[in-house]
Amino acid sequence: MRLYSTNHQSPDVDLEEAVFRGLPPDNGLYMPTEFTKLPQSFWDNVGNLSLQEIAFEVSNALIGTDVPSEDLRKLIDTAIDFPAPLVKVEENTYCLELFHGPSMAFKDFGARFMAGLMSYFLQKSQKQIHILVATSGDTGGAVAQGFYQTPNIDVTILYPSGKVSDIQEKQLTTLGENVRALEVNGTFDDCQKLVKQAFLDEELSRKFDLASANSINIARLIPQAFYYVNAYAQLKKQGIDLPVVISVPSGNFGNLSAGIIAWKLGLPVQHFVAATNINNVVPKYIESGVYEAISPSLSTISNAMDVGNPSNFPRMKALLNDDWQEMRDVLSGYFYTDEETKIAMKDVYGRTGYVMCPHTAVAYLGLKAYEKTLKTPISGIFFSTAHYAKFLDVVEEVVGEQAIPERLAALLNKEKQATLISTDFVDFKAWLMSNL
Ligand SMILES: *Cc1c(COP(=O)(O)O)cnc(C)c1O
Repeated sequence: MRLYSTNHQSPDVDLEEAVFRGLPPDNGLYMPTEFTKLPQSFWDNVGNLSLQEIAFEVSNALIGTDVPSEDLRKLIDTAIDFPAPLVKVEENTYCLELFHGPSMAFKDFGARFMAGLMSYFLQKSQKQIHILVATSGDTGGAVAQGFYQTPNIDVTILYPSGKVSDIQEKQLTTLGENVRALEVNGTFDDCQKLVKQAFLDEELSRKFDLASANSINIARLIPQAFYYVNAYAQLKKQGIDLPVVISVPSGNFGNLSAGIIAWKLGLPVQHFVAATNINNVVPKYIESGVYEAISPSLSTISNAMDVGNPSNFPRMKALLNDDWQEMRDVLSGYFYTDEETKIAMKDVYGRTGYVMCPHTAVAYLGLKAYEKTLKTPISGIFFSTAHYAKFLDVVEEVVGEQAIPERLAALLNKEKQATLISTDFVDFKAWLMSNL
């Protein structure tokens, strides 16, 4: 597999280099140089394949010889060891539940695959690497779980004190072993700044092999293509063959970029919907061709999508040949206020009993809006990116008391272990020097 930088000012690299570098030196994003369509026989038979079998075929098509088949199969069976069921919610309307992994959000797919891939490459070199990651909530939980007990890798997670939910904090701070949490007396932006400074610090770089695990890493994108194909496979298995439309609740647009990758590999999707909250940069761009970042980003109840300048947007553009018209042919954009989101949560719950987290509700709304523009029926799929219990405050306010899954409830009784630090880099660096 060869990867190029979307800024075209850095040399092409192989997968191993792209994964450990994260970002190319020219600050672009790594992208595969080519997409080979999966053969028609694969698509004809896909309804008979399991998620793991699909994951193998899709990643093999992308990765090629960078990871030998046998190792890739092992990696997938370990990383993708939970299902992604397609649940019928209404006539011709299905929810793809991506929250059955350990942190109960779709980021588990990316984090676990990335951990597996890094660990595979490290076996050969016997190096110890140190992952630094700043989180506003969901990323940290997935990365913590994804890398927990992974040999040759330790993880340090920085999170803003008092600004993540109880459940999210427990997901970061209760694992221990090779996963450490630093509670920063500041905002998410402060956390991000500290991590960036650490990567730029010469003494730290000389002393340690530091790596990042954020969503611009290509290793997090590849596994997200798996479940798009798996969603289609589940429709096919049921003999449903209406044109497929997929609506994706979006923030940094990694998820939707992975969908476009699946489409480039031949996935027969008629159209995608980019659904956002009022951080609506991409829907606005699709409508007008003008890209205007929102800074600072706006706070909403779907807070994992509060992104004012989506970092994967250059990838999406590159996948669609930097052509605005082509983007409009492939995707439509819709955005929603918190009020509209809550009404949808309540409406769907009232009619069907299905509980959606706020992000999921945004995707549902986008799907329904796009459907209204069509004259013929489709199979509509909207993604559920997190279990509702991760956003229990809003969910209970809107639809009343709901059960918490055992896995999350058990967390609340575990003891938090975190080191409190200030926003001063000197503090953070001192901690790193004596603890890595
Ligand atoms: C991260 C996240 C999103 C946004 O995904 P992107 O790939 O950044 O567009 C949506 N919903 C939830 C619950 C998330 O955690």
